[in-house]
Amino acid sequence: MILKRFSATNFRNIEECNVEFKPGVNLLHGRNAQGKTNAIEGIYIFSRGKSFRAREDAELVKFGSPGFRIAIEYDKKSGSESLEYALYGKERLRKKNGYKISRVTEMVGNFKSVLFYPDDLGLVKNGPEGRRSFLNIAASQCYPAYMKHYADFKKALDNRNCILKFIQKGLFADRNELYSWSSMMAEYSSYIYLLREDYIKRLSFYAKKVMRDISSGKEDIEITHKCDIKTDSLEREKIREKYERVFLTDNEAEFSAGLTLHGPHRDDIVISLNGKDARYFASQGQQRSAVLALKLAEGEVIREVTGEYPVYLFDDVLSELDEIRRRYVLEDAGEKQIIITSCDPDELLGFTTNEIDVCDGRYSVDG
Ligand code: ATP
Ligand code: MG
Repeated sequence: MILKRFSATNFRNIEECNVEFKPGVNLLHGRNAQGKTNAIEGIYIFSRGKSFRAREDAELVKFGSPGFRIAIEYDKKSGSESLEYALYGKERLRKKNGYKISRVTEMVGNFKSVLFYPDDLGLVKNGPEGRRSFLNIAASQCYPAYMKHYADFKKALDNRNCILKFIQKGLFADRNELYSWSSMMAEYSSYIYLLREDYIKRLSFYAKKVMRDISSGKEDIEITHKCDIKTDSLEREKIREKYERVFLTDNEAEFSAGLTLHGPHRDDIVISLNGKDARYFASQGQQRSAVLALKLAEGEVIREVTGEYPVYLFDDVLSELDEIRRRYVLEDAGEKQIIITSCDPDELLGFTTNEIDVCDGRYSVDG
């Protein structure tokens, strides 16, 4: 997948832009606070469905403007496509190839990209939320049904939690309703479980390869799924039954917590380095390598499942990697497209195919 163009109007500090990208390594360089990350943020919205750093879309509107519009044009093996997203007041408009689409779930899964930014460096060490969010976003880009199953699951979960809150407070609650939300959750959980299992196996395979390459064969990484059920079965009905047991038995603790204590919303991925849980035992350098391996593996899984590489968006992370790892990322670009932001162009070791200078929300091609 190759991003050809990103355009924006009144988005963050960008009044108007029309930035062209090329295959290979694209560098956005400029001093601090000029709009490098703003461009990455705008592009990634089309993959994730929302910003990776704004609490709400209203923050994305240029100060003093009524709304924003962003759009991308990109090439896929199957042809060229475009996506557009605009927000004016409370009105949202989404378009694919010029035609209106109504849901964010119809937007996600078209333009595939992998984001790597400084906060990701905490992925190994921090709590499970970050890893779960990584898993959800990554799996959504690979399997068209994933986001829908997860949204259905979350809706049932919210309803079940509401009943548990009533019970906790000693208010009237219909136990049949609790039962019916639990059954629905078991159904959705079984789909989510199977897609996560499939995803994590593939991710682990590629992460292992990258980790071996960047450590000269010294480091071994393994990624496994941490969840409430244990089974080798991949039969959905069996998994549904197991989840039903999880949701229907032993509810006392949930009644006193007023919350659903088990399920896919509590899952985690365990990253092991040389047989030990990296969360507790990895050094700073090992953590960086593990996150890089995870991100490059995320791209490889997308290629395996969909037949083409995603676009890699590397925001300000090259400086966190040593020259061996930097060279590994850049030399290996091949048919991939990488868009990198940096204050220091020398970090790119001469591997760029396109250099864009960023100054006060304006983007100009060098040379
Ligand atoms: P750094 O190298 O420090 O990461 P950057 O070039 O990535 O810098 P950006 O994060 O893209 O910088 O932000 C550029 C500027 O955009 C900042 O000065 C910020 O104040 C400004 N900005 C953020 N949101 C808005 C907004 N809604 N309207 C106008 N300007 C905004
Ligand atoms: Mg930045």
